[in-house]
Amino acid sequence: MIYDMLVVGGGPCGYAAALYGGRAGLSVLLLEKLSPGGQMATTDMIDNYPGFPEGINGFDLAMLMKQSAERFGLRTETADVTGAELEGDIKVLRTDGGKYEGRTVVIATGASPKELGLERERELRGRGMSYCATCDGMFYRGKTVAVAGGGDTAAADALYLSRICEKIYLVHRRDSLRAAKTYADKLAACKNVEFVWNSGVTALRGEGKLEGVEVTDKNSGEKRELAVDGLFVAVGSRPNSESFGGALKTDERGYICADETTRTELPGVFAAGDVRTKALRQVVTAVADGAVAAHFAEEYLSMK
Ligand code: NAP
Repeated sequence: MIYDMLVVGGGPCGYAAALYGGRAGLSVLLLEKLSPGGQMATTDMIDNYPGFPEGINGFDLAMLMKQSAERFGLRTETADVTGAELEGDIKVLRTDGGKYEGRTVVIATGASPKELGLERERELRGRGMSYCATCDGMFYRGKTVAVAGGGDTAAADALYLSRICEKIYLVHRRDSLRAAKTYADKLAACKNVEFVWNSGVTALRGEGKLEGVEVTDKNSGEKRELAVDGLFVAVGSRPNSESFGGALKTDERGYICADETTRTELPGVFAAGDVRTKALRQVVTAVADGAVAAHFAEEYLSMK
C-alpha cells in the first residue's frame, strides 16, 4: 500500500501530525521505534502542557495522544528506519522490518540524550549510569546519586530523585542553573539535594558497576570524589536525524533544516518537532509542528 503520509516517530509531534492527517482524510502510517512517547515518555510530570491543571505523566500523555490519532484511523508499526529514498513522488522508507511507501513523509524523530563522553561511560550504562531518571530512578531508592547538568531536564530529574533517593548531588559546570526559576526554587528547598557548582564529572569509578564519580572544579582544578550508586546524565540532547542526514540539509549540530512551515528542501518531505532547526523544543511546540506538517502535507498532495 502507498500511504498518503508516512510519519516517522511516535512522540507528541508524530501523533499530532497523524491526528491532523487522519482527520483531513489522509491514510497515515506512523513508524515508531520502541514505544509511544519518545523523550516525553521519560518525563515523570509534565505541567507545562495546557489542559492538565494537575500536570500529567509523560507516558500517560503519549498514550492519550496515540488514542486521539487512532480515532481518525492511524495505523502504527514498530520499526526502526534505517534508510530513505525521499526524492521521487513516491517516498520509500527502509526499516529493520521491511520497506514502506508514501506520498509524503513527516520526520518527527525527535532527539536523544547526549553522553558526557567519559571513558567507560557506555560500559557502565545500566550499571549505575542512566540517561532517564523517571525510567531508572526506582532502582536507586534510598541510595545516593549524582545528576549532571543544569537545564530543565537536570532540575526535573533531581527533583524527581529527591523523592526517592537518600541524597542527590547536582553537578553543574556553572554557578547557577539554566533551568526555569520554578525548578530552581523547588530544588533549593530540597534538604537532600547538594549543589556542586562550577564542576564537571571527570571520571567514573567502580568495576562492573558505578561506585563513585570524580568531579573537578572548573575554576580551581580541585578534584573531589563522590561516593554514589548512580549517575544521571542530563546534559541536553542531539537530534535523531542520522537516517535522513545524507538526504536532507542539517545544521552543524545535525538538526534538519526547515522553517516554521516544516518544509524541507525536498517536496513532500517535512521535518517537525525536536529534530528540526527551531528555537524552543517543548511538547507544546512539537505538537504544533505536527499540525503544521500535516497541513502542508495535505496542501502538497492537493496540488499534485
Ligand atoms: P539544555 O537546556 O540544553 O541544558 C543542558 C544542560 O547541560 C545545561 O545546563 C548545560 O550547561 C549542561 N551541559 C551541556 N553539555 C554538557 C557537558 N558536556 N558537560 C556538562 N554539562 C553540560 O537541555 P535539557 O535540560 O535537556 O532541556 C532540553 C529542552 O527540553 C529545553 O528546551 C528544556 O526547556 C526542555 N525541557 C523542559 C522540561 C519542562 O519544562 N518540564 C523538562 C525537561 C526539558 P550550560 O548551562 O553551561 O550550557
